Amino acid sequence: MNVFFLVIVLALVCDYALHTVADLLNVRSLERPVPGSIAALYGQEVLERSKRYVREVTRESIAERSSLLAVFILFWLTGGFDWLDGVVRDWTGSELVRGLAYVGLLALAYSAASVPLEAYHTFVIESRFGFNRTSWVTFLLDRTKGLALGAILGGALIAGVLQLFLTMGDIAWLLCWLTLAAFSLVVQWLGPSLILPLFNRFTPMPEGELREAVVAYADFVRFPLENVYVIDGSRRSTRANAFFTGLGRRRRIALFDTLIEQHSPAELVAILAHEVGHYRLHHMVQGLLIGAAHAGVALFVLQLLLGQPGLYDAMGVGRPSLHVGLVGFALIYAPLDAGLGVLVNRISRSQEYAADRFALDTAPYPAALAFALRTLSVVNLTHPNPHLLYVMLNYSHPPLVQRLKAIDDHLVVADSG
Ligand SMILES: [Zn+2]
Repeated sequence: MNVFFLVIVLALVCDYALHTVADLLNVRSLERPVPGSIAALYGQEVLERSKRYVREVTRESIAERSSLLAVFILFWLTGGFDWLDGVVRDWTGSELVRGLAYVGLLALAYSAASVPLEAYHTFVIESRFGFNRTSWVTFLLDRTKGLALGAILGGALIAGVLQLFLTMGDIAWLLCWLTLAAFSLVVQWLGPSLILPLFNRFTPMPEGELREAVVAYADFVRFPLENVYVIDGSRRSTRANAFFTGLGRRRRIALFDTLIEQHSPAELVAILAHEVGHYRLHHMVQGLLIGAAHAGVALFVLQLLLGQPGLYDAMGVGRPSLHVGLVGFALIYAPLDAGLGVLVNRISRSQEYAADRFALDTAPYPAALAFALRTLSVVNLTHPNPHLLYVMLNYSHPPLVQRLKAIDDHLVVADSG
């Protein structure tokens, strides 16, 4: 029995089972009694709506996971990887071009399979619950731009990785690692000003009461106001959000216009303070370092795997090649990646708590943060009581109940201290 084949099968089955069990447990926990404060906050009608929403989204995610897995297994077991290898071999003699075509076509097939699923999510589920504001034109334009961006950035990256592994021997993984780290640094640095504006319009804070409150806060924490923007999230969805992104002078905090519609200036300043917290506490840099460590491990494993003939047998491919090895690696590495994902989510949640504490310590009306989070949960029909396993696998932010409790605890300590 080929051990690589076994590992890939086990990885696929475990990943599928784990996420599906987490989904089902999460739906079941809708029946658990909701903490009194949350029940009062949501009210009976919204609580029922949020339960319906969670059920529908879960059903959709299980169906999506199952169909993608079925298509993948069919492609694999009917010799799809070998067939595609033959196709790109006929096209060109260059290993680099073959590799780019091979990985590119697989990525294209994956995104082609995802578009109908995304369309269903946007135009059926999100519309049914009143979230969607995307038109078909915007939807298709977004996908096209995403694809073009993926082709340019992903293509450059894959070409670099292939070229290094084709020519640099044993130290290829190390050189790849350095290249990848530099690449992600550049994307993080330029992304906010070059990539994000392809999808959203960024405008400076408009004049008025909110701007005055923001100016006062930005002065107080010495965050430059010209880096605070409003973005037109309302073009796509009624959902509200805010984020911090970028490095150095190109850093940006963006508040969705939908957020501004739904919250008071005091709440918006508290949300802004949370985002400034991410900046002040260097969460972006931490994220980059974690990503770099992760990539280093992955590339080292890749180098080890490429020399294993069993890997190509497991893929059903007759001739070993770098591009087939790369795809085989992605399959074998998936469980380790999922484990690291749990860790990354956990770090992200602790960063959220830390950014909340920063906001509570610096915002003029700290209590407004809890109000804002409550409103966001109700408006977004967030699961009132998510299951622990589901949170571990999927939540980059703490569930509302825990987050509010941490805020209360911090305010009590601050009061008595
Ligand atoms: Zn945050």
